[in-house]
Amino acid sequence: MARTPVVFGNWKLHKTVNDALELVTALKNQLGVVRDVEVGVAPVFTALSSVAKRLEDSHLRLAGQNCHWEESGAWTGEVAPSMLVDVGCSHVILGHSERRHYFGETDDGVARKARAALDAGLGVILCVGETESERDAGQTTARVDSQLAGSLASVEESDLERLVVAYEPVWAIGTGRTATPGQAQEVHAHIRATLRGRFGAAADDLRIQYGGSVKPGNAEELMSQADIDGALVGGASLEADDFVAIVKAARPG
Ligand code: PEP
Repeated sequence: MARTPVVFGNWKLHKTVNDALELVTALKNQLGVVRDVEVGVAPVFTALSSVAKRLEDSHLRLAGQNCHWEESGAWTGEVAPSMLVDVGCSHVILGHSERRHYFGETDDGVARKARAALDAGLGVILCVGETESERDAGQTTARVDSQLAGSLASVEESDLERLVVAYEPVWAIGTGRTATPGQAQEVHAHIRATLRGRFGAAADDLRIQYGGSVKPGNAEELMSQADIDGALVGGASLEADDFVAIVKAARPG
């Protein structure tokens, strides 16, 4: 089965509600005709509800940038998976390297979040990737494997169709340095092989995105690799023209 390319924009800590609406309106207008790529955006929590309303008659998806593993309770500052569904999200990004690095997120916590998000009906974009020193030490695949094993500890084969793995080498995120298509393909193929070892043939249908300084100028070559099924885009998703160009570069054929 051919895998439908999947491209999401991670807006991180950018854009007021009005700015978010302006950007998403431009995307909706320019991407209405693109049906062969699954496209979504991940605004800040405070803009989700307004953006969801603007996207009501659109095929664009909406993602939270994080969620908690609990559904309710004394968890100041957290947002539950069902609350993301409630405001119109179809997906959540989990385990982003910025969450792991600055907020101390562990594979165990990410695993609990992934289970809760899947149980709430969300699709999960799970981020994995090595640091520069891990790559230099030849530990790239070991690092990625341990993140996959830990973060997907409670994921079952039947969950795979709602899972997207984003391979994001930490040294390439927001730095302007991109993994070469060959470097990225090598790790993507490894991720697929690892997951095939655990889940069997279902891993052949799993989408694996690349993330790390994807731009209009490098998107097509990256996404033409056999195991690169789309992109998770940070900086370049904040400008409509750049993001649209990346989505168009992901179109099959
Ligand atoms: C990201 O934050 O997921 C990302 C890939 O960022 P950038 O495209 O800016 O490197």
